[in-house]
Amino acid sequence: MSDSKSTELMEKIVSLCKRRGFIYPSSEIYGGINGFWDYGPLGAELKRNVKDLWWRSMVHYRDDVVGLEATIIMHPMIWKASGHLDTFSDPMSTCRQCKKLVRSDQALEMVEDAEWFQRLQQFYTATAQSLPIAVTVEALEKLEQSVRKKAPNLALVRAREAVSARLVESASSDGAEWSNETQFLRSVSTENPGNGYAHFPCPHCGGELTEPRPFNLMFKSHYGPVESEDNVCYLRPETAQAIFVQFKNVFETSRQKMPFGIAQVGKAFRNEVTPRNFTFRSREFEQMELEFFIKPDEAVAALAGKLATAADGAWQGVPQADWGWEVWHKYWVEQRVRFYENIGLAREDFVEYWQKPDELAHYARATVDILFRFPFGVQELEGIAARGDFDLTQHQKFSGKSTEVFDEELRAAWTKLDDATRQSIKARYESTVRESLVKRGFLESDAAIQATEFSTAYIEKLAKGYYVPHVIEPSAGVDRLILALLCKAYHEVVSTDEKGKSETRVVLKFHPRVAPIKVGVFPLLKNKPELVAKAHAVRDLLRPHMTVFYDESGAIGRRYARQDEAGTPFGVTIDFETLGEKPELLDTVTLRHRDDGRQERVAIADLLPRLLPLIR
Ligand code: ATP
Repeated sequence: MSDSKSTELMEKIVSLCKRRGFIYPSSEIYGGINGFWDYGPLGAELKRNVKDLWWRSMVHYRDDVVGLEATIIMHPMIWKASGHLDTFSDPMSTCRQCKKLVRSDQALEMVEDAEWFQRLQQFYTATAQSLPIAVTVEALEKLEQSVRKKAPNLALVRAREAVSARLVESASSDGAEWSNETQFLRSVSTENPGNGYAHFPCPHCGGELTEPRPFNLMFKSHYGPVESEDNVCYLRPETAQAIFVQFKNVFETSRQKMPFGIAQVGKAFRNEVTPRNFTFRSREFEQMELEFFIKPDEAVAALAGKLATAADGAWQGVPQADWGWEVWHKYWVEQRVRFYENIGLAREDFVEYWQKPDELAHYARATVDILFRFPFGVQELEGIAARGDFDLTQHQKFSGKSTEVFDEELRAAWTKLDDATRQSIKARYESTVRESLVKRGFLESDAAIQATEFSTAYIEKLAKGYYVPHVIEPSAGVDRLILALLCKAYHEVVSTDEKGKSETRVVLKFHPRVAPIKVGVFPLLKNKPELVAKAHAVRDLLRPHMTVFYDESGAIGRRYARQDEAGTPFGVTIDFETLGEKPELLDTVTLRHRDDGRQERVAIADLLPRLLPLIR
């Protein structure tokens, strides 16, 4: 639940984003469209910087990752194979009174943010302690009046007499309906507490929500002029599947060897039931995803003679030939956190949440959610999953095309293994398969038979040098990262002038690498042609290397403040000294630093060497 301070902070950030041209509601002049956002001039630069930095660190600075740019609409069978058609859904309820749709698993969280709930909460806190004395029909009537406007369909409002009689009765007998705040909330929300599904009220009106039913999040469309079942297609809900289906093409054309990765940045679409928290949960958003394909542990053990595990702590260093999936997974978690540190977020801003075994998808071996401390709560920024060979195997099954790779070194290494090593590699695999089948609901005995069959076939292939690669998937949302950067950068600075009047200014302290504009260039006065000409020359010197904002209007203090609010880390002022008023300062400028207001004199010739290392 977000408290009023964080709600106020979010409101300020949303309003700043609109006022300064970072983010606008999509289609605003038509009343907007829920869950869709547009990035304005500053937002577009910020987003571009973030995507470029991700691409640089994931693709350009590595020998073992290449890029892909695939289509948004792909063959519909892909979504059958990936499981999205059957299982990519959220639980949804409809309010029986106001007819609004609510994601059932978020109903409580949304209710907690509603003003009327806070009244119920205060009443509960003040009353529950002194049960049964304090609860009277009159007290409940007062409560009903205080929430009536905002929650007109709450059972306490719709059927006050019946509900309050029941609550008073419960208070003086078993007290069950007062046993905790959640129970109390449910009790004031329904006329029939004993009736089946115990739901939370509708966050919008307090009404009654239907039982949850699965709602598939994929946007559906048709390709070609005829709308029929034969040409149904979907807007991709994630960029990852395109990487899996193009895996073989990329592998065969990029001269990469296992292990290697394929990266993609692009749009994804999810018809979220309740988009919320500004851009955090949108219906159209962008993802930055890497599928890093690795050799299965059995192949690594055969090739390297041993298998390094996460316990060795190896993941902090450079990749090694004996790394198994666990080490690769931890390595990528660490790489991703380092990326965030590199663009101005701190390790303390995150919580690494390792999903518990019962939370993992059946194919996932481990998943870490990197959660960021947003003002509205600690929420997912990126997920890093070890997905085994699930995706490539599924596409192999559904397409009938092989997704296996052939590794000549593995074939040669296998021939040199002694029998005991071969047997121990097989036994290890067999036990992993058996455990996974049991986890999926197979009987122990059936799982054992199947595991033996699978492992025999698998080891036979491995011995010939063939396997389906496994994958580690760091999957980040661009829009959530932009929001995290905005929240982290937002600072209010109070300054007091000579007359004692204080003013609060906003400074966005973006890391220079992500800042939309890197430098503001200001001639001290706009009516002095020599100053203006020099300022133009400085602007033109810097422009090929960084984003520059040239501003000659208004007092210099106001110009600095405008750039502080846009998050521009550096300001360059051209004054009379630049023109040689003091000969020793000829061709020098004032370089101002946004975060501490520090100013220093720098030769124009030194500007690029000073600034470039800070922004790259
Ligand atoms: P959540 O549980 O928050 O819905 P998820 O676990 O379904 O997220 P993934 O499928 O792992 O998300 O997607 C990877 C990343 O894509 C997320 O970590 C997030 O940054 C981003 N993302 C997912 N859904 C949305 C959305 N509706 N709006 C904005 N970004 C999103």
